[in-house]
Amino acid sequence: MRIDIATLFPDMCNAVLGTSVLGRGIKNGFIEIHTHDIREYTKDRHRNVDDKPYGGGTGLVMQAQPIYDCITAIKAFHETPPRVIYMSPQGETLTQDKVRELSRESGLILLCGHYEGVDQRVLDELEVEEISVGDYVLTGGELPALIVCDAVARMTKGVLPNEDAYSIESHFAGLLEFPQYSRPEVWRGRAVPEVLLCGDHKKVAEWQEEQALLVTCQKRPDMYERYLAEHAEEFAEKAVREAKRAERRRRREEKRKRI
Ligand code: SAM
Repeated sequence: MRIDIATLFPDMCNAVLGTSVLGRGIKNGFIEIHTHDIREYTKDRHRNVDDKPYGGGTGLVMQAQPIYDCITAIKAFHETPPRVIYMSPQGETLTQDKVRELSRESGLILLCGHYEGVDQRVLDELEVEEISVGDYVLTGGELPALIVCDAVARMTKGVLPNEDAYSIESHFAGLLEFPQYSRPEVWRGRAVPEVLLCGDHKKVAEWQEEQALLVTCQKRPDMYERYLAEHAEEFAEKAVREAKRAERRRRREEKRKRI
């Protein structure tokens, strides 16, 4: 997977890309992320990349030419045509499903706007997709692009120690994650749930499954409802299995009493 970020502020991105899990993933070659300074592509003799908006109004609009030339140059680094994504508050909201979809691509170009945004004509010409990180407006697309990089990198083979590291986490399977605890066993009078200390993996897994449902129900009733609807058959089968098990237990108990 290769991700290219087209931005007016590459240093802002590089500072994050060199750090922590993402930094290690890049350093160890599991994911390639490059930043490109759009200003390097301007043909303006004063190196300008923005101008006043037609029709008036405050702020500046990023001009089409440097962006177009920058993205065209980046495309040449890709063997297969990469998806070109404009980070925009008007785009489709990023979700874990979208991240999963993006992580299957071999290449992505992330375009970061700034100021009042980008001349519409270059977005149309490049046929960009638009992705938003939420219904609010930021000063630039750099933080959103880094969010995409981070979320996609986590799902890229090798970046995390194994698939479990992301597949049991919130949102991956439509639920939030169960509560986590670490040492000490008791902190300020609060003890770690006993089941986590029993060493019985089956019991621990059952508890975690139950807690994930409970936490989701409490914190995100919308997700919980969706999960129940999507897994209705599975829940019904489980209920039948449990009822049969209870019936067998009852019969065994009765038989034992008769003897
Ligand atoms: N004038 C634009 C509008 O109202 O839609 C907002 C421009 S915003 C101040 C500057 C840049 O920040 C945008 O071009 C975009 O790249 C980025 N940006 C701001 N909010 C964002 C969000 N929620 N998700 C993704 N990118 C965002």
